[in-house]
Amino acid sequence: MPQIAPRAGQSTPYDVCIVGSGAGGGMAAYALTQAGARVVMLEAGGEWWATRDAKMLYPDWLSPRRGGSTRIRPFGEFDACDGGWDLEGEPYTVASGSTFRWWRARMLGGRTNHWGRYSLRFGPDDFKSRTKDGLGDDWPISYDDIAPWYDKIDSFIGIFGSNEGLRDHPDGVFMPPPKPRCFELLVKKACDAQHVLCIPSRMSVITRPLPGRMQCHYCGHCNRGCTAKANFSSPDILIAPARATGRLTLLTNAMAREVTLGPDGLASGVSYIDKATGQDRHVRARIVVLAASACESARILLNSKSSRFPQGLANSSGMVGKYISDTTGTTVSGYIPAMENHVPHDEQGVGGMHVYMPWWLDNAKLDFPRGYHIEPWGGLRGNPGAGFMGGIHRYPSGGGYGQKLKEDYRRYYGATIGLDGRGSMIPNDKSYCELDPNQVDRYGIPVLRFHWQWSDYEYNQVKHMQETFRSLITAMGGQIFSNMPTREQNYGISQGGSIIHEIGGVRMGDDASKSVLDSNCRAHDCRNLFVADGGPFVSKGDKNPTWTILALAWRTADYITEQRKAGAL
Ligand SMILES: Cc1cc2nc3c(=O)[nH]c(=O)nc-3n(C[C@H](O)[C@H](O)[C@H](O)COP(=O)(O)OP(=O)(O)OC[C@H]3O[C@@H](n4cnc5c(N)ncnc54)[C@H](O)[C@@H]3O)c2cc1C
Ligand code: SF4
Repeated sequence: MPQIAPRAGQSTPYDVCIVGSGAGGGMAAYALTQAGARVVMLEAGGEWWATRDAKMLYPDWLSPRRGGSTRIRPFGEFDACDGGWDLEGEPYTVASGSTFRWWRARMLGGRTNHWGRYSLRFGPDDFKSRTKDGLGDDWPISYDDIAPWYDKIDSFIGIFGSNEGLRDHPDGVFMPPPKPRCFELLVKKACDAQHVLCIPSRMSVITRPLPGRMQCHYCGHCNRGCTAKANFSSPDILIAPARATGRLTLLTNAMAREVTLGPDGLASGVSYIDKATGQDRHVRARIVVLAASACESARILLNSKSSRFPQGLANSSGMVGKYISDTTGTTVSGYIPAMENHVPHDEQGVGGMHVYMPWWLDNAKLDFPRGYHIEPWGGLRGNPGAGFMGGIHRYPSGGGYGQKLKEDYRRYYGATIGLDGRGSMIPNDKSYCELDPNQVDRYGIPVLRFHWQWSDYEYNQVKHMQETFRSLITAMGGQIFSNMPTREQNYGISQGGSIIHEIGGVRMGDDASKSVLDSNCRAHDCRNLFVADGGPFVSKGDKNPTWTILALAWRTADYITEQRKAGAL
């Protein structure tokens, strides 16, 4: 271990040190500071506040690249998130025979600055899927155990949607949803004809004001950050109120290296690199909460080696890094002649879909377990930016020059509909991360090496998505842009990690020989160490993970508060 200087001026340990400021870290900081704890937060990136820094209302033509992507902003120059698939000086490796992509944010608020904000509760079956179909493992908690915290985040953070009484897509505390756009009515019509359930979407965008926050004005630019605080991002909604208590010390550009241990075998704090000076530093704390994102928290634990934990902290089971999974995904899109020569009108709405299709079928009649949901996109949405329409050559006239080209752009703009499938993966023992024995990052910290394998469960599910989406677009009178992918093309399944819903690696469970954390997200091996990101997930239904990361992080923070009050921590 390098020579480490303590953080200047720290005379007593903080009550809690949180690593990471995204969904999980922000939520834990909010709940713990409200409950009176003195918290220090280490964040590897710099400060960014949507209320100060967002380019919400900038037209794309103001960008030198017309909104095109850069290395640090792969989703477009005005996108809110600094990060990407390829961070300079911070590599990861992929084992031979595997493909995996790891998207990382490096900024205050992490990926919550530009996430899609599709905010779906897991259902009762998602927590007990092994009981239902015999695959994978059950969570040690049930839907009822976490439901009160889903209710709390619905009310505090804000979400729109509709109560539908669907068993595995639980109702919530919803604000009214926006009306469907023109293309979404077409999607709904095709779904109704094919008996596919299509309901208002559920997004953490407020359609009614909340204290200190305006309601959405439908500019459609959620991914750039919302200066009106009408959507959820961790800095403005969680970290700002945590800081207002006077109990949060925020250390940005602080890259955590490892959790340190005291002679009693308990976590004593976190060592980190101060990126501004390159110096190694240390903060002392009575409790440590890792929330650096699922795989990064696993990496910190694996790098926290000591004579007591030679395989990494909290890893006596050998389970740290194991059973990581992602959402399955594939897309079909097409040109819809009925939407040609669109009458120009304001169709923007929120920065995402106004309707979606939750899983609607019975697996007993299918050749794959569990399910997927459908996220539609398309129509006429805002100013065209770099790469809009995906290339005119895909449309019937095939491109051209001069006046004819301009007319074609006007004719076809807004006449595209796409359907994204987002499905459940069964975690397997061939999908995991470990420390690469040969590579370190720019700070000298060993990096992760990923192993990945989809199974026929996922391939069959994605084949079903492709067939269903093609049938729906055909029912809309559409011309599909691509051919049906074959088995050799893996039916068009996305690469592991590329849906950016990676979870697991620090999973919870009742059996300490098969899991890292207990049902309160506390390490079996170390009673003052917690994880509050997607790492504790045992599995994931088709639902996007972040609403559950938030609910679980708040639940974990409340447990820490209880334990502190009882003098047990
Ligand atoms: C384009 C996009 C769209 C998405 N859409 C959706 C969606 O619609 N619905 C949904 O549910 N989810 C969505 N997600 C996923 C969602 O963003 C994540 O699930 C969520 O942000 C995870 O929260 P987290 O706290 O675990 O990690 P993050 O939000 O990634 O935050 C982790 C933080 O930890 C910091 N950090 C990392 N390592 C260290 C270290 N060593 N030391 C100090 N700090 C560190 C990072 O800088 C970062 O700020 C999307 C993601 C992307 C990229
Ligand atoms: S669409 Fe609404 S929530 Fe999204 S950035 Fe615009 S005003 Fe904010």
